[in-house]
Amino acid sequence: MNPVSAPSLTALPKAALVIDGKAASKGIIVRVAEEARALIASGVKPGLAVVLVGEDPASQVYVGAKGRAAVDCGFYSVQHDLSRDTSEAELLALVHRLNADPAVHGILVQLPLPKAINSARILEAIAPHKDVDGFHPINVGLASIGEMKRALLPCTPSGAMILIEQACAALGQTLSGKEAVIIGRSNIVGKPMAQLLLAQNCTVTIAHSRTRDLPSVARRADILVAAVGQPELVRGDWIAEGAIVIDVGVNRIAAEGLNAAGKPKTRLVGDVAYAEASARAGAITPVPGGVGPMTIAMLMANTLIAACRANGRAEPKF
Ligand code: NAD
Repeated sequence: MNPVSAPSLTALPKAALVIDGKAASKGIIVRVAEEARALIASGVKPGLAVVLVGEDPASQVYVGAKGRAAVDCGFYSVQHDLSRDTSEAELLALVHRLNADPAVHGILVQLPLPKAINSARILEAIAPHKDVDGFHPINVGLASIGEMKRALLPCTPSGAMILIEQACAALGQTLSGKEAVIIGRSNIVGKPMAQLLLAQNCTVTIAHSRTRDLPSVARRADILVAAVGQPELVRGDWIAEGAIVIDVGVNRIAAEGLNAAGKPKTRLVGDVAYAEASARAGAITPVPGGVGPMTIAMLMANTLIAACRANGRAEPKF
């Protein structure tokens, strides 16, 4: 080692590794497409049905992106657009038809549903082996008893888990035994994230809106996952030196200036104050471009897995 350069190198501020969710998601999509080609060659074409009720613009964007990704993966892809005044009985009838359709291996009913429809009743009507969102109580139960290989796991936390594994590998660390703190206890992100980290032998704390002294709980974390929905709630001094920070939050806030249409500009930020946090973290996901792109990739992975299981084929591990 050069004795002159060593001290100046250590004096440089340490930059966190930026975890590139876009690149990781592309890698997963490429693998899904490869596996799908082999499956199709053997006579099984994975099929995904996406159901949209109403005209919510954000939901239309999500559903469109899911359909396009399914086509990119070589899947049979079908979208059912139902009017806002669709009854619960009509939606249930469609779910039952899709449950019985052998060309469909994955069913996704886009949330939120109109208020007149009981979402839980719809999600519970989806056959668990076609529940590619991983929200059916059977899949939730399998995950909670550690039967990850039999469950279909929710897409956002399983995508976040892949990013955590990649960050650990890049930092030369092992997951087992790490302190993981998740802020947020929702059924779709916080709780399944806890199950996944527990399955990897982390010591898991779930913090939430009633947690006392959240900053000091967060500072315990080797792995900190923020899934709250509050712009930049997590400050730099909540982060332990070298921690892996996974920001699930997606929040649109006002930005300076006007856009091309003369409307006030907006921008996306996460639940973590990125600049502050990246000065202390060992690795961190940006928003956008971190966890977000992983969700659709994992939906494709789940559809492929469902198709393999339905046809008694060996399933790939993602
Ligand atoms: P949610 O509203 O269902 O749950 C939020 C959780 O945060 C609750 O458990 C609540 O207890 C906790 N919370 C609220 N305020 C808090 C506070 N001040 N301190 C500590 N905890 C607090 O939200 P969700 O569906 O889990 O989503 C969380 C965030 O993740 C949102 O920004 C959402 O947009 C985003 N999200 C992103 C993706 C994706 O990237 N694909 C997918 C799902 C959710």
